[in-house]
Amino acid sequence: MPTARPRVVIVGAGFGGLNAARALRRADVDVLVIDQHNFHTFQPLLYQVATAGLDAGDIAHQVRGIFARQRNVRFLMARVGAVDWDAREVELESGTREPFDYLIVAAGAVYHDFGTPGVFEHGFVLKSLHEAVALRSHMLRQFERAAADEGHIDRGGLTFVIVGAGPTGVEMAGAMVELFDRVLPKDYPELDVGRAKVVLLEMTDHVLAPYGERSRAYAERVLRRRGVDLRLGTAVQEVHADHVVLAGGERLGTATLIWAAGVRAHPIAEALGAPLGRASRVDLMPDLSLPDRPHAFVVGDMAGTTGSGGTLHPQVAQVAIQQGKHAAATIIRRLRGEDGRPFAYADRGQMAIIGRSAGVAELSRRLGGFRFTGFLGWLSWLFIHLIYLPGHQNRVNAFTNWTFNFLTYERHARLILDEETPRDEQVGRGTIVG
Ligand SMILES: Cc1cc2nc3c(=O)[nH]c(=O)nc-3n(C[C@H](O)[C@H](O)[C@H](O)COP(=O)(O)OP(=O)(O)OC[C@H]3O[C@@H](n4cnc5c(N)ncnc54)[C@H](O)[C@@H]3O)c2cc1C
Repeated sequence: MPTARPRVVIVGAGFGGLNAARALRRADVDVLVIDQHNFHTFQPLLYQVATAGLDAGDIAHQVRGIFARQRNVRFLMARVGAVDWDAREVELESGTREPFDYLIVAAGAVYHDFGTPGVFEHGFVLKSLHEAVALRSHMLRQFERAAADEGHIDRGGLTFVIVGAGPTGVEMAGAMVELFDRVLPKDYPELDVGRAKVVLLEMTDHVLAPYGERSRAYAERVLRRRGVDLRLGTAVQEVHADHVVLAGGERLGTATLIWAAGVRAHPIAEALGAPLGRASRVDLMPDLSLPDRPHAFVVGDMAGTTGSGGTLHPQVAQVAIQQGKHAAATIIRRLRGEDGRPFAYADRGQMAIIGRSAGVAELSRRLGGFRFTGFLGWLSWLFIHLIYLPGHQNRVNAFTNWTFNFLTYERHARLILDEETPRDEQVGRGTIVG
């Protein structure tokens, strides 16, 4: 009789979960990957779906397809609600339970509105494919409204406000002005599309917080030159359906607020019973296991791990990928009766683009410390994202779409797909946590 193999349950098929499962391909274990969606979402390109540059399908990959050739992986589409540590089972929201010998939790992050009134009810976030399509549909619908009634522009219908000038806010603003300047005027000859405005609000006095001075200054220059109304040192106080109130009292008419100002760990972190640190990220042992639970690991955006100087690791794909692999390696070591090793993040650098031909790329010191801005930064960004985008067909589609968009100033995915529904249904209630 064959003996049962140890069972590894992985919660989340994002960057952390996928890479953990892949790293277990030769291990003598059975792996169960659980995700609420049947696909992996390549979040760094969500803003391109929201601005009609890519189709939703170009940046998602079906999880069963990813593991079709990995015999020790099974997939279950379900939402995990809690963990029963005594029984060593995860509890699914459907009421069923899945037993585990080892557990890796990689459920990512959710947006955090820091208690700002109205963001939850009226704001858009960019965290899932559904939300990206909802935002695209909403933005295009504003142009349709304005085409039918120009008074809509006077009421702020074509004023689009982004809160937070980190990489997501900057990339989104750059892509939006390009869409409004180059693409939509052809669609709406009856409309003065030049009256559409992108307002980018940032509470601190600079854009791209984690980047060096040169990259920040370049990004700021390009944003302003391309027509983004960039307001530094400006916070949002309240959000309403048809306007926002800024700290200081200014009222800005708008039907679109995009919240890119902050995230916190997925609320499932609270159900793990482990101590939580800043932004609800889980405090872990150096090998990424939970304190007193050497068989359970947390990786990616949920993990409260720190680097030199005690700074929290950034919530980026590379950290999640490396941590997923590390947790898998630690499970393999435990199975051999060896101790886990401390996780050390190998930083490769960071990059962002600000629309066509303008990017910033900063390689880490271990990769030479090179810094590029402009066309080279933009090209490096395209290249790296194509390499990491899962699925051959997705890569071909993205490459074709980008080439076509670049040569023709087109954005083929200008489709209003979502029916107009109450905001809470459109953006997936529960994503923003106050
Ligand atoms: C708009 C945007 C742009 C970004 N741009 C960049 C970038 O340019 N470069 C970069 O490095 N990083 C970027 N990031 C950050 C990067 O995407 C994250 O750091 C990374 O996805 C974290 O990986 P993860 O595995 O921790 O979580 P995720 O990749 O978020 O995966 C979490 C998974 O868990 C699943 N899940 C959640 N809750 C449950 C549940 N209860 N039950 C079952 N499944 C569940 C989700 O469906 C999801 O598939 C960006 C993020 C966003 C939102």
